[in-house]
Amino acid sequence: MSDDRIEPSPETLLAHKGRHPRDHHGFVNPPVYHGSTVTFPDVATMLSGRQRYTYGRHGSPTTDALEEVLAALEGAEGVVLCPSGLSAVTTAILAVAGAGDHILVVDSVYAPARRFCDGMAKRLGIETTYYDPALGAEIESLIRPNTRAIYTETPGSLTFELQDIDALAAVARRHNLLVVTDNTWATPLFYKPLAHGADISLMAGTKYVVGHSDVLIGTVAAGPRAWKRLKEVRTDLGLSVGPDDVNLSLRGLRTMAVRLARHQESGIAVARWLEDRPEVARVLHPALPSHPQHALYARDFTGASGLFSFVTRPAPMKAVAAMLDGLAYFGLGYSWGGFESLAIVSDPKKIRTATAWADDGHLIRLHIGLENPADLIADLEAGFARFNGALTD
Ligand SMILES: *Cc1c(COP(=O)(O)O)cnc(C)c1O
Repeated sequence: MSDDRIEPSPETLLAHKGRHPRDHHGFVNPPVYHGSTVTFPDVATMLSGRQRYTYGRHGSPTTDALEEVLAALEGAEGVVLCPSGLSAVTTAILAVAGAGDHILVVDSVYAPARRFCDGMAKRLGIETTYYDPALGAEIESLIRPNTRAIYTETPGSLTFELQDIDALAAVARRHNLLVVTDNTWATPLFYKPLAHGADISLMAGTKYVVGHSDVLIGTVAAGPRAWKRLKEVRTDLGLSVGPDDVNLSLRGLRTMAVRLARHQESGIAVARWLEDRPEVARVLHPALPSHPQHALYARDFTGASGLFSFVTRPAPMKAVAAMLDGLAYFGLGYSWGGFESLAIVSDPKKIRTATAWADDGHLIRLHIGLENPADLIADLEAGFARFNGALTD
């Protein structure tokens, strides 16, 4: 970064933060440090604790570079890198709660996070109550004397309910609770949880940070109230991400803004097209005016990424299978955020406990990649022909 005195826009920051070419003979990108052992010039330095790097697990210029870009983008005190998005989720939870504590977790949460709460967190003595994603200030009635945190995900990455983080954070402040937000969908380019009152903003960097479906990584950014504890948890758990994965994440991050702009544009184009299809009962995309919380989206978000769902008219699974199995450009796969389009079919009824899922059609989630959207629409149109054909078989 050549000039820290001006506050750069996010796109500029993605291109410049975490780079110090003069430290590396002028090369644009920092070198990738492979290393477990770090040596010291003498005993005095070793005992002083003042050498910048001391042990591979505790960081390197490579991890510093990625953390520096992310901290600037998130407006965070600091960032911890984790070996997957799920480990970012569990690290954040372990940073805000311990034995005897109670946490409030949104009912639309990423399903493996729920599994952690119901399994390991419970065994460690952390109790979870799931709450309706529509709750704002009303969440106060669920707070107990031992409640420590409110865990949020906005929007939910399967059913796309948005959460009013400002309202939740206002209640959290009054009760001295911390707020955690899984911001994988929007990334800090389109929504900044810490600016809306959250204490921890986490992402599966696996998705849009990496952007190429070839690395798993998690990022946890903390504001002043959570940073110290988060850092301790990273150290105590021995979390470390390999330098090549960090480097690929840094490489992905440099182009995240242009990729997201295209994911957004194509995603909205496909979602609008789906809204007019007779096979579709409803489209769940926060950027569409038909989304029940579109006003909240318009208030808080500066953009939408490429992931959304739609619900089919009631139909047998064989119609859905006929549609999805024959798609040319949509892979059947879960981990989204890469350059390619994806589809899954899912049943939210099986996942939630605090709220009911009333739709009786099938929920199909799409990730709209960087292909030409006209090709994707043609692919889906042929898919609906197979869907309809299977109804009369
Ligand atoms: C994918 C995802 C995760 C987990 O990320 P991994 O890197 O696959 O472990 C967590 N939260 C959300 C919202 C996700 O979409």
